[in-house]
Amino acid sequence: GIKIVTIGGGSSYTPELVEGFIKRYDELPVRELWLVDIEAGREKLEIVGSLAKRMIEKAGLPITVHLTLDRKAALKGADFVTTQFRVGLLDARAKDERIPLSHGVLGQETNGPGGLFKGLRTIPVILDIVKDIKELCPDAWLINFTNPAGMVTEAVLRYTDHKKIVGLCNVPIGIEMGVAKLLDVDHSRIRIDFAGLNHMVYGLDVYLDGVSVKDRVIELLTSPENSSFVKNVEGQGWEPEFIRALNALTCPYHLYYYKSDEMLEKELKNFKAGTTRAEVVKKLEEELFELYKDPNLAIKPPQLEERGGAYYSDAAVRLISSIYNDKRDIQPVNTINHGAIASIPYESAVEVSCVITKEGPKPIINGDLPVAVRGLVQQIKSFERVAAEAAVTGNYDTALLAMTINPLVPSDKVGKVILDEMLEAHREHLPQF
Ligand code: NAD
Ligand code: MN
Repeated sequence: GIKIVTIGGGSSYTPELVEGFIKRYDELPVRELWLVDIEAGREKLEIVGSLAKRMIEKAGLPITVHLTLDRKAALKGADFVTTQFRVGLLDARAKDERIPLSHGVLGQETNGPGGLFKGLRTIPVILDIVKDIKELCPDAWLINFTNPAGMVTEAVLRYTDHKKIVGLCNVPIGIEMGVAKLLDVDHSRIRIDFAGLNHMVYGLDVYLDGVSVKDRVIELLTSPENSSFVKNVEGQGWEPEFIRALNALTCPYHLYYYKSDEMLEKELKNFKAGTTRAEVVKKLEEELFELYKDPNLAIKPPQLEERGGAYYSDAAVRLISSIYNDKRDIQPVNTINHGAIASIPYESAVEVSCVITKEGPKPIINGDLPVAVRGLVQQIKSFERVAAEAAVTGNYDTALLAMTINPLVPSDKVGKVILDEMLEAHREHLPQF
């Protein structure tokens, strides 16, 4: 039987993961699921863990669920390790968003200044986890969901010799679902060639039943009749001429880079009203945990989808199953480039459609990105690399360099003010500085 270890087991996303394991039990016979958390998450772990046990009991499956704060005990002999933790919990995210905004700069918790700090907090922990994996379950696949997923994958590839890591995000699946809706077809018939980086990914071609329908999709995306649909998917509509000329699908995170002013204005408004994303999520999470506590609840409550975690289980369990079963189907994941995108370093992490085999993801060669986006993608990759270096070394100058080269940061001077304030605010979670 398969042993799965989930680090950050107290996450509100765990019921979706459990649902995924239940749904795919026939192809993926999980025997043990270990949910690992830390003292600060003990209560969450107990609530989520009890729900997980009820879900499995209701499904009548022979999966045992273990709850523990002892990571090493859990990791022994694991086949797959999934990571979905948040160092410093949502209070840290609030700081990642609010401190840059207080200086008139977008925080952006993955590819912006907020993401720099999330990375500085997360990377030392993930490198410790990899050390434990090398010792206790060296053949295990590490499936990382922890953001900033691109930077975290880059750090593991660059600073450890554990190559069995895959970074996972639900954004590409969300885009496939959106396109399926736009074309009014089942999403299983849609495939998109994704290429780029995590939260900086583009859809370079779109297929319906294996035949390219990109022109039709771009036409639909830019037609006035669909503007409210596009707004729903992306948050804001694009100028049709821009999308036509780009001739590729964007992801919602592109709004921060191609609509910086509008996004900043919107977030400043939320900031002043005390409703930045961290605060909204905090409230949603409290409501979810109230539901989870109900001893009669034995399914994943539908309200979880509002948290933005939709398709999580599908992405994670589908990936694990394809590795385990050597399915060789195509899935978009974060993995080592190996030449899939010519303008990104050979050994760097990229988010790209891959054939998923027992030996891991094999990237589909794209040649290169369209020239119009190549520069921005390279810039974000440089940011990820310098940020990862700062996380590993604890070097102040390197951290300032990462901050300043981020496209959302207007100057070294503003960057330094934000950096100093954030280093202070997050001190307890930054032992390397
Ligand atoms: P959360 O705040 O609920 O944290 C999850 C758990 O991690 C908590 O129970 C916490 O106690 C635990 N934790 C914190 N530090 C830990 C450590 N050192 N070891 C073990 N556990 C630890 O977070 P969440 O909202 O459930 O999100 C979890 C992670 O998943 C975040 O990093 C988030 O950014 C990421 N995420 C990624 C995607 C994606 O598409 N890649 C989507 C959603 C969420
Ligand atoms: Mn993501």
